[in-house]
Amino acid sequence: MFNGFRFCLLGADPRSKILMRHRAFWLSSVTIASCLSLLRLLGVFQIWELAAYDRLLQLRPPEPIDDRIVIVSFSETDLQLLGSSQISDQVMANLLKKIRSQKPRVIGLDFYRNLPSQPGYPELLEVFKTTPNLVGIAKIIGNEQGAAVTGNPFLIRTDRISARDVVIDVDGRVRRAILYPGAEGATALPSFGFRLALDYLESQGISPDPKAEQLTLQGIRFPAFAQNDGGYINADASGYQILLNPRGQTGHFHMISAIDVLKNRANLLLKDRIVLVGNTSAGDSDAFFTTYSTVSGFSPEAMSGVELHANLTSQILSTVLDRRPLMFTFPEWVEWLAMVLLSYGGVWVNSRKFARLHRLMLTLLLVLAVLAASYWLVTIGWWFPVVPAAIAILTSATALTMVEAQRLSVLSSQDELTRLANRRTFNEWLEREWARGVRSQSSLALIFCDVDYFKLYNDTYGHPKGDECLRQIAWAIQQATKRPADLAARYGGEEFVVLLPNTDTQGALQVAKDIQAEVQLLQIDHTGSRVSPFVTLSLGISSVVPSVSTQPELLVKAADLGLYAAKRKGRNQMVSQALQLPLEEN
Ligand code: GH3
Ligand code: MG
Ligand code: MG
Repeated sequence: MFNGFRFCLLGADPRSKILMRHRAFWLSSVTIASCLSLLRLLGVFQIWELAAYDRLLQLRPPEPIDDRIVIVSFSETDLQLLGSSQISDQVMANLLKKIRSQKPRVIGLDFYRNLPSQPGYPELLEVFKTTPNLVGIAKIIGNEQGAAVTGNPFLIRTDRISARDVVIDVDGRVRRAILYPGAEGATALPSFGFRLALDYLESQGISPDPKAEQLTLQGIRFPAFAQNDGGYINADASGYQILLNPRGQTGHFHMISAIDVLKNRANLLLKDRIVLVGNTSAGDSDAFFTTYSTVSGFSPEAMSGVELHANLTSQILSTVLDRRPLMFTFPEWVEWLAMVLLSYGGVWVNSRKFARLHRLMLTLLLVLAVLAASYWLVTIGWWFPVVPAAIAILTSATALTMVEAQRLSVLSSQDELTRLANRRTFNEWLEREWARGVRSQSSLALIFCDVDYFKLYNDTYGHPKGDECLRQIAWAIQQATKRPADLAARYGGEEFVVLLPNTDTQGALQVAKDIQAEVQLLQIDHTGSRVSPFVTLSLGISSVVPSVSTQPELLVKAADLGLYAAKRKGRNQMVSQALQLPLEEN
């Protein structure tokens, strides 16, 4: 309803207006950030956030090969050359002997070898016995990826077994590494990639700080992943996890063929390196989608399990030895605060007196800046929730634009001095109510009010006082028009109109009396008036049941004629005037 806007800005001094505006900005920013945080908690953005995180990681410059790690792989070609998808214990024993002869620091065997695969089991066991730096695998947790699988009994007995378990996100990708699957604390079985890194570091005299609560290697803390870290919501954070910071999809480790090693054709020295032996053939189910898996063809490119484990080994080694950053996340309150500030930015940019196009461009620039900052943060190892941040800016910008549009539309329909509806709004309402009256055949009434001897009022008290008087009269008229459908408007100068739908002349006369009474109550001194010591009004009233053959202007004209008659009869009174009928006295 239009009347609701009356006097809303009257009397506020500019400073307090600016203060109120800023308070409103902050309040709306806090509200937007809190709503977005709530939506995040409900998991609405999780998939987007994970995808955006992947994208930012993919955009990073390519990383060099980790020279400490070599993967000896059974690829599809190797298996075909072997003539079997089953690698016999004999082949495995021969391969491990070849590798061992080059004195690598650690050998990781990414095969279970829990059951003999004849021929050659005794030989393989012999190799296990005589290779103390060899670590094997087991699968600790039975889940949808497969049942638990025990490791080789000898390796278990000699504490050279590790867990090859992997955590998979809701969208089927691997972004985290689990350091101690299936159990809490540092006494549990470490995961494969982690164990290889620990063994490598131990050979350099570096081992986890026993006093530290969280995994700490050479003073570097590896914070445990919590369920709502980064873009995650309610993720399973069991078993001491960290966020993976992979080097890339493929080609970040030396990769040599198992057959080449067996045939002494590999020309890469394995000395002092970590050697992972694994299956990379397409038929192997041990493959995962990761942060770097881009969609090619029908499905994303998968990474072989052995490469995934190598990535974890490499991440731990490079963190400790090369000071390569881990991937950290911000506390939730920091993310919330950032969203408040960015919302404020969105509101602030759009509250400036720039052209609309410039404000839009600045808003988009702000979003771009957030993207750029998030990218930069990711390169130094910080995951910032870019999706809700961008949404915070866009939401606040949109909200402010809508509020401004609403404010402008109110301003353009208001009279500046009195805050009543202006003449344009009155004309619109008259047209609308006329059409409605034609349809419903109900009476539409109009009251025309004019201040008596107002020119003399101005002359006596000055123009500013005159303005104040008009404001008070506007308020009085507003008080007398009680129904939501009634409209009080300033017609111009010291003339006001009141449009009363569903009202006949009797009803309009009542409203007119109420207006007069309200004005009387104001008791505004008017020594220049010849009819009263106080300011008074003359009123003309008319009503009609609208029809298609008559025009709304006739109603205005009739009410104006009534006003003219009231003036002529001495002012401070009301006259009702029927349409095209002789003057009828009140
Ligand atoms: P009457 O009783 O016949 O209506 O006499 P009047 O003096 O009220 O009528 P007139 O039309 O001669 O004068 C209207 C005056 O209203 C003249 C103008 O200066 C004053 N006026 C119009 N708009 C404003 C305004 O916005 N502020 C002030 N202060 N005065 C205004
Ligand atoms: Mg006048
Ligand atoms: Mg007047």
